[in-house]
Formats: sequence, C-alpha cells, structure tokens
Amino acid sequence: MSTKKDGIMVILSSPSGAGKTTLVKLLSKNKDFHISVSHTTRKPRPNEIPNQDYYFVDHQKFEVLIKNEEFLEYAKVFKHLYGTSRSPVIEKLEKGDNVIFDIDWQGADQIKNKKLNYKLITFFILPPSKEVLFERLSNRDMKDKLIVEERMKEFTRDVLHWINYDYVIINDNLDECYSKINNLIEAEKNNGSKDYDKEYIRNHINLLTS
Ligand code: 5GP
Repeated sequence: MSTKKDGIMVILSSPSGAGKTTLVKLLSKNKDFHISVSHTTRKPRPNEIPNQDYYFVDHQKFEVLIKNEEFLEYAKVFKHLYGTSRSPVIEKLEKGDNVIFDIDWQGADQIKNKKLNYKLITFFILPPSKEVLFERLSNRDMKDKLIVEERMKEFTRDVLHWINYDYVIINDNLDECYSKINNLIEAEKNNGSKDYDKEYIRNHINLLTS
C-alpha cells in the first residue's frame, strides 16, 4: 500500500514539438520533482550532458539491462531504445521524493499497467494547432524539411494515445500550461475539485486529427 509519506509519480508525454521538456524542467524546479534520467541508445546532441540528460549507452549494454530486468519500462521511440531504470525511481518514492518522467506513450502505458503502489498522474501535452506545431518543429534545430514532415506524420499517430492519459493539456502558453498542470497535481494530491473539461479536449483532438 502507498502511504501518505511516499512520493508521487508524474508522467508527461507529448508528440515532438509540444513543449514538454521545458515543462518538465519547470515542474522539477518549482515543485521539487526529481527528473527520472533515462537510458538511451541514441547519440548525445551537442547541448546534452551525459548522465544528466540521459545515460547514453550502446545497444549491447541496453540489451544487458533489459536481460537483467533493470527497467521499469522501455520502448523503441523513433529509431532508438529508451528505458527507465527501476531502482533509482523506487528508492526516491520510498524516501518520499516525487519523480517526474519525460517518456512516450508506450512507457506511460507500461508504468500504468504495472499498478505500482504509488500515486501516478499522467499528462499528455498537445500543441494548440497543427500549424503551430509545424512552425515549432520548423524553427527547431531540425532545418531538414523531411524530418519536419516525418514528425508531423508521427504526431498524427501519437495523438491517438491521448485517451489513455489522466489529463490532456494544450500548450498554448507556457505559464498557463504549467499552472494547469500544477493545479491538477495539487487537486489530485488533496482530493480537491479539478478544473478539467474533457469535452473541450475531445473537440480539440478532433480538430487536430481532422
Ligand atoms: P529525445 O530523443 O527527443 O530526447 O526523446 C524522444 C522521445 O523519447 C520523447 O518523446 C521522450 O519523451 C521519449 N523518452 C525519453 N526517455 C524515455 C524512456 O525512458 N522511456 C520511454 N518510453 N520514452 C522515453
């Protein structure tokens, strides 16, 4: 049984370009969440710090970690493997520390299905429109048109997984989006009333997928 002193788990997932990484960092800083550092077989980007942004490992090492059942969840995302080690997460939760995960829908599903004895709140972050997403992706380091097109296609597939999340949040404005997530976490922790309109979200998804 989870007890009041155990930490809670918050998962933030989103299609590429919805602004999730910034939100994870804000939540970690302002709300005292430890960011779960994943393992990945992808190569580091120039601005990334090994063992802080990711544990960068080769395919062979990743396979060993799978075999030794070290992962709480793992998945292939785009062309690479990503996984969350179990023990650092459980140690933190047992100490009463909160943990935030920046993982995709496959990882979120796996953690949800594990039914661990810790409170879990899942958020799916979406862009306000396809046009805004296209603009965000084009302005990123991805100057390559083909990559942007590929990400847009992935978006159409990924967005369908919204239904498995506790909350879907539209990232129109970063401060507002942060504040919505913050209020929902507090409401979940204290069994308070939740300001969340599922019908509005359903309509928004219809617009994004039409
Ligand atoms: P990136 O390579 O851009 O950092 O991440 C690509 C995608 O992989 C993002 O959607 C991110 O949330 C997801 N991801 C990062 N770490 C993990 C992980 O440990 N497990 C899973 N399932 N997805 C992850």
